[in-house]
Amino acid sequence: MKYVYFFGDGKTEGKKEFKELLGGKGANLAEMSTIGVPVPPGFTITTAACKTYNDQGKTLNKDILKEINQHIKNLEQTMNKTFGNPKNPLLLSVRSGAAVSMPGMMDTILNLGLNDEVVQGLAQQSNNPKFAWDSYRRFIQMFGNVVMNIDSHLFEEILEKIKEKHDITFDKDLDVDMLKTIVKAYKDLIKREKDMLFPTDVKEQLILSIQAVFNSWNNERAIKYREINEIIGLEGTAVNVQTMVFGNLGETSATGVCFTRNPSTGENKFYGEYLMNAQGEDVVAGIRTPIQIQTMKETMPDLYDQLYSICKKLEHHYRDMQDLEFTIQDNTLYMLQTRTGKRTTQAAVNIAVDMVNEKLITKDEALLRIEPKQLSQLLHKQLDPNHIIKHIAKGLPASPGAAVGKIVFNNASAVSFHADGEPVILVRNETSPEDIIGMEVAEGILTAKGGMTSHAAVVARSMGKSCISGCSQAIINESKKTLTIDDKKFKQGDYISLDGSTGRVYPQKMPVVDPKLNGNFTTILSWADKQRRLSIRTNADTPRDAQKAIEFGAEGIGLCRTEHMFFEGDRIKAVREMILAQTLNGRRKALEKLKPYQKQDFIDLFKIMNGRPITIRLLDPPLHEFLPTENKDIQEFATTMNLSVSQLKKEIKKLHEVNPMLGHRGCRIGISHPEIPEMQTQAIFEAANEVAKQGIDVDIEIMIPLVGHTEEFNHQKKIIQTVAQTVLNGSKNINYKIGTMIEVPRAALRADSIAENAEFFSFGTNDLTQMTSGFSRDDVGKFIPGYIEKGLFKFDPFQTLDQSGVGQLIQIAVNKGRRTKSTLKIGICGEHGGEPKSIEFCHLVGLDYVSCSPYQVPIARLAAAHAMLKNGNSVLTLDNC
Ligand code: ADP
Ligand code: MG
Ligand code: MG
Repeated sequence: MKYVYFFGDGKTEGKKEFKELLGGKGANLAEMSTIGVPVPPGFTITTAACKTYNDQGKTLNKDILKEINQHIKNLEQTMNKTFGNPKNPLLLSVRSGAAVSMPGMMDTILNLGLNDEVVQGLAQQSNNPKFAWDSYRRFIQMFGNVVMNIDSHLFEEILEKIKEKHDITFDKDLDVDMLKTIVKAYKDLIKREKDMLFPTDVKEQLILSIQAVFNSWNNERAIKYREINEIIGLEGTAVNVQTMVFGNLGETSATGVCFTRNPSTGENKFYGEYLMNAQGEDVVAGIRTPIQIQTMKETMPDLYDQLYSICKKLEHHYRDMQDLEFTIQDNTLYMLQTRTGKRTTQAAVNIAVDMVNEKLITKDEALLRIEPKQLSQLLHKQLDPNHIIKHIAKGLPASPGAAVGKIVFNNASAVSFHADGEPVILVRNETSPEDIIGMEVAEGILTAKGGMTSHAAVVARSMGKSCISGCSQAIINESKKTLTIDDKKFKQGDYISLDGSTGRVYPQKMPVVDPKLNGNFTTILSWADKQRRLSIRTNADTPRDAQKAIEFGAEGIGLCRTEHMFFEGDRIKAVREMILAQTLNGRRKALEKLKPYQKQDFIDLFKIMNGRPITIRLLDPPLHEFLPTENKDIQEFATTMNLSVSQLKKEIKKLHEVNPMLGHRGCRIGISHPEIPEMQTQAIFEAANEVAKQGIDVDIEIMIPLVGHTEEFNHQKKIIQTVAQTVLNGSKNINYKIGTMIEVPRAALRADSIAENAEFFSFGTNDLTQMTSGFSRDDVGKFIPGYIEKGLFKFDPFQTLDQSGVGQLIQIAVNKGRRTKSTLKIGICGEHGGEPKSIEFCHLVGLDYVSCSPYQVPIARLAAAHAMLKNGNSVLTLDNC
């Protein structure tokens, strides 16, 4: 086993493909030296050595030590310097670097190899005592902090005191005597804190430093970081030991960082900052204001040209935007690091398209370089990243985007504030269908209860509004109109801000930035459309949502929930009348009042869809959801219904269910009250007739909800067919299909039988997840976050499809359904239809389309292309079911 790899001119042993073994930094240092970029020579101790070290009780075994010593000798020869020799000392940096970049895991140690004698020698040899002592004080501080675990704070205090005493602002202005005083004070500090002397033996310094890096692999911060970022399967970190180059040699030296393109906008313009006479992290640490890289063009034109051409060369070599570190030592340029640069979504999109145009990458590569989820940043307002403060509470990130507004606790206040031109945030324990009035005018919604698929979350996503649900820290008193978070109390009219992308709540008005959509965004999506096999539909209940979704590229509606049409204006009255009617005739009368509204809604939707498919789901929720809950509304309604308040309350009580989600809802209502699906179907077909007369095509899919038994489906289908016969009267112009939602586990198991009469399936994965795991989707906010925190779950199954559980039912239903009817059209309309991992699964199991909220349509288009590019076109079928 080889534990140490040399890098430097010519003799390089590593390369960029060895990332796992050498870490990202080490592999790229090797690669840079191979392609002729000036890199100070050094060697990388592998991640395997780290594992061996940790496995063998935190000791460096003989083999590893031998290799390290051998490489130090090599390095001495290459550099023509000797480690620890005051006459001509070799100084080193010790840098950590895992295969995946882990910021903050372990700090770098610079200027290693100095002690009281060597510093004198270095001063003499360089003829620059200030530089020598500056390097020494930096080394002791870094070593003291990183290896000896002394709070860096204590070092800073000493430094500040001396600067204050001599009235000095910048470190670079410290003179030799001051530096010597600092070094002395540092050494005293170490003695005091650790009861030991600062090690003067340079080999000991090196070995202790290497061990400190290896130890840092298992420190709390690093373990937590790997956990959060799901980094698994790595053995350890590598250590890079590298010859020092000095940016602190005076005014001919500098250190800096740069990007080959602008990481924030993506603009193809060299971007960077540097500091003269400085070292290491001085630039990032912000001890002085750095100089823009463009200035270097004027002050050091040759070095600028060299740096620029190296950066371009590296960008071409790696075929991606690079983030680089460099140091200029006495007018000679060295590169110290290169890696793929992190970037904003906007930059990612622009860079990907530009690089295709520059023929640097292919369209497929461009697509794969953009995370579909990221796109939501381009579609919604965001909190201004330059003005972020600490949040006061965190809930579920139910619908992305920022919202800033005044707190309101009910629909009436929401509407009246809104009428006065005030932005509002609707704050409620949980929302119910009647709250869409308030949600409609609100900037965002905050609820204390509920999960990712609770009412507030689903509706907010479809409206493209920011929403945080399940924020259990929020104590909301709706009647007293107060919101309390810890000991902070808010009342109606107070400002709060929400970040629906992270679930964070901020206690004040925060600045927001508008989304930026440009031509490159459209270009990327058009490339995605050419790749994907899945169609993309949308969940839209209103003409406005449908319009928005089509603008975003939706090819049809995969779920139109008819009940959402029941709340607007006078309709709710008719709905309530229908629910409380005591006789069939009474119900019919109320339904007749509703029908014109429904019909008009469908006419509007059919016109917008203009021949695109639209899946209309018949009434689904339990009826009591439509009844008034507030006393004032109950009184008002009692008068209209000619009932006493107590009579009305009795009727409402009768409709109460112990477990409404599993109660009298979906097709069960249609079976008890066939007149309801009858009316809805009439409205659908009459609307179809009307737009057909105007020459507009319709492609209707009528969907029966909550079917578990074939008999339920057949019963409802017959009602629809009978209405079709009368209303359509044999007209061949109207295309329609009758199908069902697969959301009850039994329906998945009986899919072969259901498919005998159904023409399409659509997976309602919200209910399917709820019923498969037995997790109430409106209560998961209480316990799923705890599951995730404890590591029991990697993700919320209402957000990301539970492939191994719910996914099996989907596969069973697909297989059985298509075995009965090979032409069966199958899609998904649960909230998972907009989530990239779940979309990949839908692709894999051979669905025809996914349907998601309008604002997720671009994400789904890109995710469907990713699914195709990563997996090809073959379909995974489940045997033996
Ligand atoms: P990080 O992973 O935190 O960026 P690095 O190992 O890249 O840590 O180093 C931290 C700082 O020290 C960087 O500014 C880097 O350029 C500088 N540095 C590292 N090695 C050397 C070296 N051999 N000579 C000069 N500066 C160095
Ligand atoms: Mg670095
Ligand atoms: Mg459902």
